[in-house]
Amino acid sequence: MNKIISVIGARPQFIKAAALCRAIKQEFSTQLQHIIIHTGQHYDKNMSEVFFDELAIDPPAYHLEMHTENQIFPMQESIQGIREIIHKEKPEMVLVYGDTYSTLAGAMAAEACLLPLAHIEAGMRSFNDMPEEVNRTETDKRASVLFCPTQTAVNNLINEGLSLDTTKPFHSKNKKIFLSGDIMYDHALFFKNKEIPLSRSLKNILTLVPSFLLTTIHRKENTDDEKRLRNIIKGLLLIADKKQHLVFPMHPRTKKMLTLFLSPEEQHVFYLHPYIHSLNPVSYLEMMYLENKADMIITDSGGVQKEAYFYQKPCIILRPETEWIEIIESKCGILCNVLPDSIWKAYIAYTENPPKDFPPFFGNGHAASFICNSITELLKE
Ligand code: UDP
Repeated sequence: MNKIISVIGARPQFIKAAALCRAIKQEFSTQLQHIIIHTGQHYDKNMSEVFFDELAIDPPAYHLEMHTENQIFPMQESIQGIREIIHKEKPEMVLVYGDTYSTLAGAMAAEACLLPLAHIEAGMRSFNDMPEEVNRTETDKRASVLFCPTQTAVNNLINEGLSLDTTKPFHSKNKKIFLSGDIMYDHALFFKNKEIPLSRSLKNILTLVPSFLLTTIHRKENTDDEKRLRNIIKGLLLIADKKQHLVFPMHPRTKKMLTLFLSPEEQHVFYLHPYIHSLNPVSYLEMMYLENKADMIITDSGGVQKEAYFYQKPCIILRPETEWIEIIESKCGILCNVLPDSIWKAYIAYTENPPKDFPPFFGNGHAASFICNSITELLKE
């Protein structure tokens, strides 16, 4: 039995770790003992607890309660906390996911403890200087095992000088790169035809709404910039004014910034618009349901733009660039600057001419199983 530790802290990581937990339970329970550390980066019910419940993620054995006060993540305390747990538990490998501060904290703790580090969703690059890009690049530098979701991610690592053909043993200077496929695609396929229980508030909205666009906004570069956030809201209003329903599960930061930036009258127009249905963040399964049913998705989320692709929905991406370039190259998603008119034009373009072909860039839906198998094999060596 090999002991591994996952460090998670934010919504997209709970979702990725859940697919791994499911694979361990179903296929690797006699080979892998999996311990979860929750940093506490996301901690309220809608952003954390709900995922552990409905995705049956093993409860975290350790909770560091490192809340992001004033938007600053306590990096040093987190690294120290993770190191202490590593010393106590003595795992053989640390696993981190994606690109948040918790990802990098886990990577730096593993490095300090001289432990092999596996990065799930390695090799993604958006070639900007946003915190997510720094987190994922710095994590990849420290990882010894890199699980890439797409061929583009593998190519990015090769372009940075990593070789696919490394010899043993694997450590951060002698890395092992795998094309595992995307672990989030596992979920999309797993839940696609499952019956999904919906909350009363969501059911109430959906009974009023025959067809809808789904929207999410949470990236700091959009939420914390008054001009950008206002323009996004104006763009959504342009669409809603044409009697197109929009369902909008709202990230707590977006809600907070709208209260700061919009006057009471503007908030009134937005929140009481008959075609805009804003609600608290929904559970993951509800999100799967909404994505599956939506006609189109408007988002700045990395995860949601991929899920739009998994469910074959056109996606307007409210960012200047994306690390998931296959979505753009296949014309199934469009990068959209956040001017109201651009959002409107992108909406019209996809309404008149929706994409039809969604090539399988994200693997076969068995990434978690592949990752567990690879880890088990590596730890045997
Ligand atoms: N998500 C969710 N409920 C919501 C909004 C998003 O479960 O109300 C899920 C979504 O389906 C995706 C993940 O959260 O799997 C994406 O997380 P987020 O947008 O916070 O981060 P990013 O992917 O941009 O890192």
